Amino acid sequence: MALIVQKYGGSSVADTQSLQRVARRIVQTRQAGHQVVVVVSAMGDTTDDLIDMAAELNAHAPAREMDILLSAGERISMSLLSMAISAQGVPAMAFTGAQAGIRTDAKYGKAQIVGMVPERIARVIRDNNVAIVAGFQGVNDAEDVTTLGRGGSDTTAVALAAALHADVCEIYTDVDGLFTADPRLVPTARALHSLDYEETLELAANGAKILHLRAVEFARRYRVPLHVRSSFSDKDGTWIAQGPAPKSLRGIVPAKALEEENVEAPIISGIAHDRSQEKLTVVGLPDRPGVAADLFAAVAKVGANIDMIVQNISEARPGRANISITMPAEDIPGVMEELQHEKSALDFIRIDHDTNVGKVSLVGAGMRNNPGISACFFQALSDAGINVDIISTSEVRISVLISLDRLDDAVLAIHKAFDLDSEETEAVVYGGTGR
Ligand code: ASP
Ligand code: MG
Repeated sequence: MALIVQKYGGSSVADTQSLQRVARRIVQTRQAGHQVVVVVSAMGDTTDDLIDMAAELNAHAPAREMDILLSAGERISMSLLSMAISAQGVPAMAFTGAQAGIRTDAKYGKAQIVGMVPERIARVIRDNNVAIVAGFQGVNDAEDVTTLGRGGSDTTAVALAAALHADVCEIYTDVDGLFTADPRLVPTARALHSLDYEETLELAANGAKILHLRAVEFARRYRVPLHVRSSFSDKDGTWIAQGPAPKSLRGIVPAKALEEENVEAPIISGIAHDRSQEKLTVVGLPDRPGVAADLFAAVAKVGANIDMIVQNISEARPGRANISITMPAEDIPGVMEELQHEKSALDFIRIDHDTNVGKVSLVGAGMRNNPGISACFFQALSDAGINVDIISTSEVRISVLISLDRLDDAVLAIHKAFDLDSEETEAVVYGGTGR
């Protein structure tokens, strides 16, 4: 008997028929002799619909009220799923994030988990129930509902898996796992059989939308084995762990993943792309020590998530420099406001705002000791006539900022240049509106 945490995304529970299908899968897992804890997202596009309604009523809806609203989406799916499972003869109980013991800080809309006390969940599964937990939410010290940020149900699932010492956390979605590129964009993308935590972290951090970044961070920290797979098929998905899976997982994880021990990892694992960023250039800053520190202190004050940074010396203005930074579009207005406020102290000339930017990243553990990778990467962009604006790298990643309207071309060109196309049939996207 194993303890399995299963997370079902919004497209897997879009309507009552889907809920019934998911319930059958859960019942089958139980009948195979396992304990099951389920985490669900809101049905279909519910979260987006709730956000739209709130915006109609209040352009600056208070963050606390937004979180109470958005947490309702997962409450609907958790209770309906619980009923669907009971109807199939297996006892099930649904719990909110607070009831499941998920404690967070008070940052509404992007709360971080600070403690897990899932005693109640442990108890009900011991008593033979399936426990269903509402994803993406917790409770803060003031006993208010908080949400974990868009896509946060993955994090709920991995945090529960870690706290309950589950054998595996299965993330069910509408594609057969992770691919060498987004199969919606590159139909010939190849399914990835296994990845390590670091590669997965780089893919998630750089725009691969299939896993919430903090879920991967949790999985890495607590060594939770992840299996990302489709709820619409029985195919094995992508296995994410460090090194080979323990033998105790036989029967739960795909046999192929257990054989991986001596196989050298492929050099490249995949390409991620990100359309959510925009660029600010602070023009004409004094070129002297302390200026960057002051600039980034101002940006940090508004809690923006800075991604890429580049500094150029201004040829036109001796003694002056320009600093460009990229960040999620939603962080831009706050940063602009703060910088304008500090304009005379920082002594810059103006700020340029560029919305036509996209980022493409190549990720692979084998990059560490294969020096030809960058040459091939930049040649592919050059052959496609794509101009590079900013470059950033890690040990296992190269990213470039390019113009947004060439992003799709860049992904396709790099995918081809690294020979990542699948020889098999095209990747299947089973559901979802991609919203
Ligand atoms: N329902 C939330 C969202 O759409 C959380 C999730 O799906 O993981 O972002
Ligand atoms: Mg969702």
